[in-house]
Amino acid sequence: MGATLKMLIDGALVDGDSTMEVINPATAKPFASVACASVAQADAAIAAAKKAQPGWAAVPFEERAEYLRKLAAAIDARADELARTLVQEQGKPLPEAQAEIAYAGIFLRAFADMKLPVETLQDDDDLKVELHYRPLGVVVGIAPWNFPVLIAFNKVAPALLLGNTMVLKPAPTTPVATLMVGEIAKEILPPGVLNIVVDRNDLGSHLTSHPDVAKVSFTGSTVTGKKVAEVAASTLKRLTLELGGNDAGVVLDDVDVKKTAQGVVDSAFANAGQVCIALKRLYVADRIYDEMCDELAKLVSDLQYGDGLEQGVRVGPLQNEMQFKKAKAYLEHAAADGKIIAGGEAGDGEGYFIKPTVVRDIKDDSPLVQEEQFAPILPVLRYSDVEEVIERANDTNLGLGGSVWSSSIDRAYEYAQRIDSGTVWINHHTHFAPHIPFGGAKESGVGVEF
Ligand code: NAD
Repeated sequence: MGATLKMLIDGALVDGDSTMEVINPATAKPFASVACASVAQADAAIAAAKKAQPGWAAVPFEERAEYLRKLAAAIDARADELARTLVQEQGKPLPEAQAEIAYAGIFLRAFADMKLPVETLQDDDDLKVELHYRPLGVVVGIAPWNFPVLIAFNKVAPALLLGNTMVLKPAPTTPVATLMVGEIAKEILPPGVLNIVVDRNDLGSHLTSHPDVAKVSFTGSTVTGKKVAEVAASTLKRLTLELGGNDAGVVLDDVDVKKTAQGVVDSAFANAGQVCIALKRLYVADRIYDEMCDELAKLVSDLQYGDGLEQGVRVGPLQNEMQFKKAKAYLEHAAADGKIIAGGEAGDGEGYFIKPTVVRDIKDDSPLVQEEQFAPILPVLRYSDVEEVIERANDTNLGLGGSVWSSSIDRAYEYAQRIDSGTVWINHHTHFAPHIPFGGAKESGVGVEF
């Protein structure tokens, strides 16, 4: 283990009141040590952000954009080291970690290129009316453990661009790469503009209820999102909530089975299924159900699982022990409620591995179908009537994403419009980009990002 990584508060890298070990999920052993904040340090971070905000807001928009571009370039320059660290703390295979770091830079630049000019709403003999975009003040950003760097900097970039300052809190199990970006940011941004504090899952409600915080941008589970909304209500803070998903994919009876199965696997097993917009329930037309199940079983049995730093690994471990335990419980439900046709057990080794799993003939009321599994375990359900399957797909409190697969775009388009989710894809699942608003319907969130 190297030196303890420090937090970024008021332009300085600081020790925490305590330190915390971070586990590598591929070995279940500590691989890094990080500083951990006390309540007083969280308050100091908010105070630093508050003090810095008027000066930052006075920096011209284009200059703030230039700061974001410099940050992107500096992240790119340390991309290799950041990606390897990300594999060790998060578990994802190296190519996925490299993509996450590259995307952090891509998104930072895309935000930097956005323009928010003053809009003239009316200009005549009676009135001149303008719409101005103003910063809110101090923004708290709270990130989950599945895409620690990408999600964090998708919050940082728009907040800073508009002249807000920020306190960022990574998830307790994935703070390492974020703190490394903090070291980078210290050399680029004025003091107090970006502050990063680490906790043991105990500072969230303090940060989100603080009277000096104007906005909370939260990504995480629906259960925690509701807690954030509750405490943020005390001062009516602005909120963006990006929460859980249980995305359905509906496969019509006219698809190319091999091509569709590959597309489904690419979405459902990326990041070991720990993607908010992964395909999490697959509904397949009766006529092609057996053929699709066979193809999925073949593809998924061939996915190599293991330590994300090993060449050829496609599915890494679950990110943390709690998620690993949940995944093992879903495997028990899978065995009881359906028929396992690939995987079906925990993987070999000390790490939090689950063999990539496909389950067919599973009941609609199985917890594996009803809940967000966040694991490499795909339930495949049969349907005979498309009208009825749209109802089944929509029969959930969540609505992040969804997809319809067909060789006729017109047919898919018709059904896609009836899926109740923030995003619906046709013939693929999980695509996102900075120019496309991203957010959830129902209990998958409030507001949009990008
Ligand atoms: P989580 O809700 O357990 O934790 C998310 C963050 O909230 C962590 O940083 C955690 O420390 C913090 N937190 C914990 N208690 C808090 C409180 N009371 N107040 C404020 N913050 C608190 O979520 P997770 O398990 O880290 O992430 C997985 C979940 O995130 C999944 O449900 C996934 O679908 C969702 N997610 C959603 C999106 C999206 O954009 N919609 C993206 C990624 C992940």
